[in-house]
Amino acid sequence: MNQPLLSASLSLADGSRRLSQSSPSPHTYLDNRVTNPQTNQRRTRSQGARERLTTKEHLARLAVGLHDVELADKLQRCHSRVSVLTCGRHVAQIIPNFTCEFRLCPDCSRRRSRKLQNKYLPMMSAFLLHRRVTAVHLVLTQTHRPESRKQSAKRIKDSFTRLQRRVFWQKHFKGGTWSLEFTKDKKGLHHTHLHIIGFRREFFDIELLRGEWLAATGDSHVLHLKPILDIATGLQEVVKYVSKPLDVRRFGAEDLKEFLGLKNMRMFGTFGEFRDFCKGFEPSDNEGISDLESLSRNLVEGCACPMCENPLFEVRLSGKDLPRFYERIEASPTASPPRKVGTSWN
Ligand SMILES: [Zn+2]
Ligand SMILES: [Zn+2]
Repeated sequence: MNQPLLSASLSLADGSRRLSQSSPSPHTYLDNRVTNPQTNQRRTRSQGARERLTTKEHLARLAVGLHDVELADKLQRCHSRVSVLTCGRHVAQIIPNFTCEFRLCPDCSRRRSRKLQNKYLPMMSAFLLHRRVTAVHLVLTQTHRPESRKQSAKRIKDSFTRLQRRVFWQKHFKGGTWSLEFTKDKKGLHHTHLHIIGFRREFFDIELLRGEWLAATGDSHVLHLKPILDIATGLQEVVKYVSKPLDVRRFGAEDLKEFLGLKNMRMFGTFGEFRDFCKGFEPSDNEGISDLESLSRNLVEGCACPMCENPLFEVRLSGKDLPRFYERIEASPTASPPRKVGTSWN
């Protein structure tokens, strides 16, 4: 049974600093989502809420078309009623009546992405602090072949396993996280990328890494690497691809059918020394990291708004009315920008 999550509204700042941009890649077949990180940062909350509604309605229609009545019903019930804790200027918390937990559901994906961030950010920060490494965002790509999404994912993961066994990789990296991103081109070919947060021991010539990736894949040397200056932002960037592995709004029935066949495929994982570090990790108070969820977990009506300290009150809404609710808040003359603490309230 699904329990409503109390901290459904807490998110890392959408508008926070992005990964530093490196010079444009000469490899033009890296698609735009890779070289230009997704640019939905400027969306307002009402636009975001409206897009999520549209996406869910689209998915539910596709599910009906596939005679998957159970999925369609779950999608329609997910966030169909919400309880909003607000001061009138900020939204401190949204509690949904029901969560469908479907991997492509935009509301449930957001929550999952926040959970991943809350789980891994303290570990990544501690690892950086204690292991004398720097973090990089590495995107690995492969050549396009006529194959299923599942085959494409397996091929790139197998190549990455081979890369990790190579001496060069072991000399320069102390592990990290990986996540899968899928896109599809107009010809229907799958473009599968691996987004790695790698903990680099020392600087190296990128051309050497290209050669290593070519050796691991047999036919692709295309990769993209940039330093991560702020680990919270870097993690947020990578987790985006996990929570939104593809553009669901462009999905047809066949795409949904294929995706349903991937049910148990892992989309995110840790590797190397970082993986072992995570297993033994116990957060301590002096790591200097605040647990974002705990900031909002215990809020109830009458508590002070974490943004402006005015009292919070509860509003019950149909999920369909949430975009309009956000619009009213955005139009409020007293609405103030989120406090700069690395988090924002939505
Ligand atoms: Zn859902
Ligand atoms: Zn407030």
